[in-house]
Amino acid sequence: MSAKYIFVTGGVVSSLGKGLAAASIGCLLESRGLKVNLMKFDPYLNVDPGTMSPFQHGEVFVTDDGAETDLDLGHYERFTHAKLSRDNNWTTGRIYEQIIAKERRGDYLGKTVQVIPHVTNEIKSAMKKVAQDVDVAIVEIGGTVGDIESLPFMEAIRQMRQELGRENTLFMHVTLVPFIAAAQELKTKPTQHSVKELLSIGIQPDILLCRTDRFLAKDIKSKIALFCNVEEGAVVTAKDVASIYEVPVVFAHEGVDTLVLRYLHLEAKDRDLKRWEELVQKVYTPTAEVTIGIVGKYVEYEDSYKSLKEALVHGALAHNLKLQVNWIEAEGLETEGRAYEEQLQDYDGILVPGGFGKRGIEGMLNAIRYAREKKIPYFGICLGMQTACIEFARNVCGLAEANSSEFDPATPHRVIYKLRELRGVEELGGTMRLGAWTCKIEPETLAYKIYGQNEISERHRHRYEFNREYEETLTAAGLRISGSTPDGTYVEMIELPDHPHFIGCQFHPEFKSKPLEPHPLFKAFVGAAYQSGLKRRAEKAAAEVDMFHRPEKVRA
Ligand code: GLN
Repeated sequence: MSAKYIFVTGGVVSSLGKGLAAASIGCLLESRGLKVNLMKFDPYLNVDPGTMSPFQHGEVFVTDDGAETDLDLGHYERFTHAKLSRDNNWTTGRIYEQIIAKERRGDYLGKTVQVIPHVTNEIKSAMKKVAQDVDVAIVEIGGTVGDIESLPFMEAIRQMRQELGRENTLFMHVTLVPFIAAAQELKTKPTQHSVKELLSIGIQPDILLCRTDRFLAKDIKSKIALFCNVEEGAVVTAKDVASIYEVPVVFAHEGVDTLVLRYLHLEAKDRDLKRWEELVQKVYTPTAEVTIGIVGKYVEYEDSYKSLKEALVHGALAHNLKLQVNWIEAEGLETEGRAYEEQLQDYDGILVPGGFGKRGIEGMLNAIRYAREKKIPYFGICLGMQTACIEFARNVCGLAEANSSEFDPATPHRVIYKLRELRGVEELGGTMRLGAWTCKIEPETLAYKIYGQNEISERHRHRYEFNREYEETLTAAGLRISGSTPDGTYVEMIELPDHPHFIGCQFHPEFKSKPLEPHPLFKAFVGAAYQSGLKRRAEKAAAEVDMFHRPEKVRA
């Protein structure tokens, strides 16, 4: 079967939601019974985003096969059933890495290695690889049209059209139609310029997805159609929405899937978007609210914890709740005299997410102590599990200097350490334990109750792990190891049986949560947090009533 291709490019400005648009198109085509795959090309020179700051680049999304990829792949997985791997995300750096390796091997037989055709060929073969066994491959090109960096990718998709023809390729361009308040008018000029830019490199877009804050009236659509040489029906209003999960529904309303099928000469069944429509309905009609405090190294920056936030949203949706998330800077919780308690008292649940480095660790430990002692639901992910073990070792087992060798290499109690380093299996660059690993869940644990199965597979991204030499000390004091790798080497999950909900996991469950399939750990945590919030508020109300009555009693 030869796949059809949809190429998604962006114009005018960045951050128009190209990734979400691509994911939503994938979702719509699946609702028509088609099989899709999605891929992203990032025009930067880094080989992958694994070593880039999350504050520059946003979250690093980890796939089952252990690739560290762009966060848009997270959207692709949340919106579709596509199985993504390292083949689904390419950067200029990685394309060149391949080419240079070939050149050094002599594969080019003495030819001059050039952008056209060698780089473009490499890009095209990467595209063709993910298009095997699917009906439609959706290819997103990062960056904005006009960037020098993205030119080879643009040239490659131009060649794809030449090679495969009109009925097998479709160009979708995401642009901006801003409303200018002073003129009280929507402006089409940026879109015109962006399309002109595309035309100058030989690409005539077929469909324009126009990001705007209001519906585009017919006259605006006709104007864009005329100036940009597309049919009027192919000028699509991509209106801002309050929930990203509404995007496929908005696109369906605009008939984007019907357009795609027509352009690509595809036969498909009628659209069935019922589950997404119900989901959107749920998003906008919550019955109550739940407040989660996330304690991290920095206060959250845009997209640095994208999957985590979405997974919490999914967990809240599973209980018809509106999610309120507050980011708490860990360093602000490091004060003596337990001033941190005041900052934490209004949260229904506390979460410490993944992270690297020493900064803020003492604040995280205070937050965990608070959650443990006050019986506030706690969820520790990766670093959040490691810090939970350190907190327990220090404050319950009396090992005051317990630490991770990541934060204090000289600590006398390395409760968290680098096992692989000690075993001498440190590999160059790839020192992290990455990707999907199987975990065995212990029976009669909260983890088992939540997962309902004794073997699971979750994705990892860490260097340090629990030191089994401390297992006896910690478990004798009440900590339970509820999940390990099948060979027992790595501790994967911990919990506290005498606490209503205290769970830590070495893996990142957020990467596998989807709006229609909320991850069990997030669903359980948000549910427990909500219950604990109800109880806390009821107790507070009772105490207030008590205070109100007390003066009379005192007087009497
Ligand atoms: N810094 C810790 C480690 O390397 C935790 C990593 C994480 O939270 N992703 O093991």
